[in-house]
Amino acid sequence: MTENQIKSIVEEVMAKMQLSGSTSGMHGVFSDMNTAIAKAKEAQKIVRVMSMDQREKIISKMREKIRENAETMARMGVDETGMGNVGDKILKHLLVAEKTPGTEDITTTAWSGDRGLTLVEMGPFGVIGAITPCTNPSETVLCNTMGMLAGGNTVVFNPHPQAIKTSIYAINLLNEASLEAGGPDNIACTVEKPTLDTSGVMMKHPDIPLLVATGGPGVVTAVLSCGKRGIGAGAGNPPALVDETADIRKAAEDIVNGCTFDNNLPCIAEKEIVAVDSICDELMRYMVEEQGCYLASREVQDKLIATVFTEKGALNRKCVGRSAKALLAMVGVEVPDNIRCITFEGPKEHPLITTELMMPILGVVRAKNFEDAVEQAVWLEHGNRHSAHIHSKNVDRITEYARAMDTAILVKNGPSYAALGFGGEGFPTFTIASRTGEGLTSAATFTKRRRCTMSDSLCIR
Ligand code: NAD
Repeated sequence: MTENQIKSIVEEVMAKMQLSGSTSGMHGVFSDMNTAIAKAKEAQKIVRVMSMDQREKIISKMREKIRENAETMARMGVDETGMGNVGDKILKHLLVAEKTPGTEDITTTAWSGDRGLTLVEMGPFGVIGAITPCTNPSETVLCNTMGMLAGGNTVVFNPHPQAIKTSIYAINLLNEASLEAGGPDNIACTVEKPTLDTSGVMMKHPDIPLLVATGGPGVVTAVLSCGKRGIGAGAGNPPALVDETADIRKAAEDIVNGCTFDNNLPCIAEKEIVAVDSICDELMRYMVEEQGCYLASREVQDKLIATVFTEKGALNRKCVGRSAKALLAMVGVEVPDNIRCITFEGPKEHPLITTELMMPILGVVRAKNFEDAVEQAVWLEHGNRHSAHIHSKNVDRITEYARAMDTAILVKNGPSYAALGFGGEGFPTFTIASRTGEGLTSAATFTKRRRCTMSDSLCIR
């Protein structure tokens, strides 16, 4: 498909939604939350008696449709939110299609012996309530639904209002996949206009036994305080530590690649560097000379601070997920297209370093030695226990850092996205349960353990 063809599909879908003023005609979309939950409950009654083979058939169809629509959803996400870049968002969708675990993640533990047979099986919760961010809108909806369905659940989403059209497109696609594979409609549902009120209905609803919050501290705290079981995938501010044993040139390349992926939107992406003094200048030289980093003067840093934060100190949403070139243009600095990141040296308390910006701005904090670097990195992660990265060839130091950071993700000697199975082993997710400790979520996370015991029988050894 050509770029113009994709563009015209996106424009057509957007125009349809705007013209009708509603989302009617899209599968899984309802005007109120109670109806969305009721419809997802009806669908779950069908899903819970399906064979694993049937669930897998639907998931395979979902993979196919996500692959076919990866570019459309990538463009919609960028157009609607103004965040990220199309090329990287296509890669994220393909990653979801190819590597999100399906029913193979649902396993059984068994004990058999003289007193019989006991199984522990992973059963569905029922209808899961999920709240999703605007930074990876369709990616999160798609990945969550595949895992939740593999576990026998259906799901109701309260997506970020700034990404509702993209989220609805993904929800419709998932339901189409289910119908085409012989499954029910409304495997994934949502409301036309998600608000704090609609998420409040979801949080209190008796038919929602499990809530999954992917977003900043506000939503995670809200979900964890509502009195139900909650999975909290919250904010991060991942530091990348570089010591003198690292391959410095490769560290510069990996860190800038990770930091600039989708304009720094992923919560796992490198947000600042802590480098030991003896290699700090060399690292920054590689970043500037070989990796497209713009070295910002104190004056440009001050202008960026005045631009990326509002007067009240909040993040200016117009800057989140924008390219380095666009951010620099906002402060009157024109740079060539090969500039993909902004760097500078500063103390850990610098506002562009200590804050989770989600912009390709990579401040460098100089540390006296490795011990000092670990201390500063722990401080910078702010106890989120989310992600941290290290470039070092000293295994003892890597171990010490991993213990000190205590994060859900720790990438050694690679770009942050290797942790999502992109250039690394393992499976992807866009819901990393940092706050509640499940880590990278998958189908198994969305199930409850159920023990089934046959006393004094069925052991045939
Ligand atoms: P956000 O917190 O502004 O919004 C996330 C979702 O929560 C949205 O749907 C929003 O409408 C809703 N929300 C916000 N406050 C709420 C409240 N008090 N009650 C109910 N719902 C509420 O985040 P965002 O800008 O969309 O995404 C970026 C943030 O999410 C970053 O902090 C990033 O690190 C984090 N994030 C974490 C993960 C993860 O897996 N841990 C993944 C993606 C994003």
